[in-house]
Amino acid sequence: KPVVAIVGRPNVGKSTIFNRIVGERISIVEDIPGVTRDRIYSSGEWLNHDFNIIDTGGIDIGDEPFLEQIRQQAEIAIDEADVIVFLTNGREGVTAADEEVAKILYRAKKPVVLGVNKIDNPEMRDQIYDFYALGFGEPFPISGSHGLGLGDLLDEAAKHFPKHGQKDYEDDVIKFSLIGRPNVGKSSLVNAILGEDRVIVSNVAGTTRDAIDSQLTYNGEKYVIIDTAGMRKKGKVYETTEKYSVLRALRAIERSDVVLVVIDGEEGIIEQDKRIAGYAHEAGRAVVIVVNKWDAVEKDEKTMKEFEQKIREHFLFLDYAPIVFLSAKTKKRIHTLIPMINTASENHSLRVDTSVLNDVIMDAVAMNPTPTDKGRRLKIYYTTQVAVKPPTFVVFVNEPELMHFSYERFIENRIRDAFGFEGTPIKIFARER
Ligand code: GDP
Repeated sequence: KPVVAIVGRPNVGKSTIFNRIVGERISIVEDIPGVTRDRIYSSGEWLNHDFNIIDTGGIDIGDEPFLEQIRQQAEIAIDEADVIVFLTNGREGVTAADEEVAKILYRAKKPVVLGVNKIDNPEMRDQIYDFYALGFGEPFPISGSHGLGLGDLLDEAAKHFPKHGQKDYEDDVIKFSLIGRPNVGKSSLVNAILGEDRVIVSNVAGTTRDAIDSQLTYNGEKYVIIDTAGMRKKGKVYETTEKYSVLRALRAIERSDVVLVVIDGEEGIIEQDKRIAGYAHEAGRAVVIVVNKWDAVEKDEKTMKEFEQKIREHFLFLDYAPIVFLSAKTKKRIHTLIPMINTASENHSLRVDTSVLNDVIMDAVAMNPTPTDKGRRLKIYYTTQVAVKPPTFVVFVNEPELMHFSYERFIENRIRDAFGFEGTPIKIFARER
């Protein structure tokens, strides 16, 4: 999906515009229990264009001086976006800070669309002409608070979207990414994987200008490590700005089939690990939990079991994800990673037999009667798998409201007992027949 980033100095209305474009989608996302999503990255739709959008204003850069913050946000936009929406405030005219942003954007070889916000009525339109001086062509008058003018602005942005039909990779390629907070050893792990005897590397991030992924072959199977370049990119903004690393992680997750959630075995689990893992789960990707730096842990025969228990307690929602304890440094158990990725990926796209599935559900209902509410009982008629990646099931019932979360969970567990699905989330929806 093309990526649009909104940049501009503070108080021009970036997050208002962001929320307008994202629309009701964000509230749907937030209905999903578990993880609260950062309001800086979401998807939007315009006509038949589906795109992702970043509010760089939401990426807080820390205690840097004002201009430095704007500068870094603009750099992020240049790095991450296909099209940049440069937002200004029509009520205040062109300010020195706008000119600073403009200077940075000139250097970028990315298309820029200039939006002049807070033009709330047609009489104010004259105020946009000053903005030609910024040097980005026609300024588009908009009103975030009234929702005016956004269509024209997005039309213009969409003109610069990369031509569609550019599929990332062929279907038979397994795409995986490594995510985790800075310093858990992601780039060391990438190097360890690429350095394995049986791995044949066909391109390495950094060797060509645009290669952000690494392609490799192992036992005749093709793989891509998504966003290797991003993992190797070190520097202040990348490392210390949590929201920015989250943003990069989200983008990598989106492009992956399998996500390796990397935890630092030496430091243990912290809150940020949970949030990162939550994104992978929510996105419906297959997940393998990787505990790195296991060489540096002082251990006895119980240590691994105890760590595993801690992971299970902290990541309740990832109970399907296998865990591997390894070391990028000593290479211990590195060779088990690709086989685990294979298993997770196979299960992620597994389709089960419908009649066997329905037998499983019938047995489940016989074992544990369906819930009732106010004298009405849930009736399950028929279950069918409607999708893969992740496996998704629709249960046809008399009244979907009667399907409790706990009963859904019970069904999920029965399905897992019967078919495995190790490494992949599965989704279950109740629908009225
Ligand atoms: P990233 O920020 O997640 O990409 O982490 P890096 O790969 O840059 O690693 C961060 C630090 O941890 C570096 O100093 C590595 O040398 C170190 N490191 C990475 N993997 C291991 C490991 O398996 N064992 C130990 N002891 N150190 C590791």
